[in-house]
Amino acid sequence: MIKYKLICKNCNNIFDSWFSSSKEYEKLKKRKYLNCDICDSRKIEKALMAPNVLNSSELKRNDINKIKDIKLKLKEFKKFIKDNFKYVGDNFAYEARSIHYDIKKKNKAIYGKASLKEIEDLKQEGIQTQEFPWIEDKEN
Ligand SMILES: [Zn+2]
Repeated sequence: MIKYKLICKNCNNIFDSWFSSSKEYEKLKKRKYLNCDICDSRKIEKALMAPNVLNSSELKRNDINKIKDIKLKLKEFKKFIKDNFKYVGDNFAYEARSIHYDIKKKNKAIYGKASLKEIEDLKQEGIQTQEFPWIEDKEN
C-alpha cells in the first residue's frame, strides 16, 4: 500500500489517499475516479509536498534507532549520576531539604525518588530539582 497526499486543483483541499500501487493511482486518475471530497472536482494531483512513499519498515527502523539512541544517552546519564551522586531512594525530598537548609551539607549531590507533589513543594521552597526518566538495567 502507498499513501499519497493529493491536492484538489479546484479548491486546494489536501487529503490522504491509499493505493495498492503507484500504477493503481495512475489508473484511477486517468479514468477520473479520483475526486475531491469537498467540491467533488476531478482535478486531482499528487501534492508536491508529498512525503508519500515512506516505507513502513524503514520508518520503524528509524524509530527504533532513535529510541536506542535516547536510551543510550539516559544510560550514560544514569551512570554519571550513580558515580557522582548519593542515592537516597524515597527520602529524596527529605534529603534535598536537609542539604538546602544545612550549610555543612551544601555540596552533597543526591538522587532518588520523589513524587510530583514533593518536587512541586521543593520548588516552592527554592530547591531546584532535575527530573528525568530512569531506565532500569533489565530493559536493555
Ligand atoms: Zn476540491
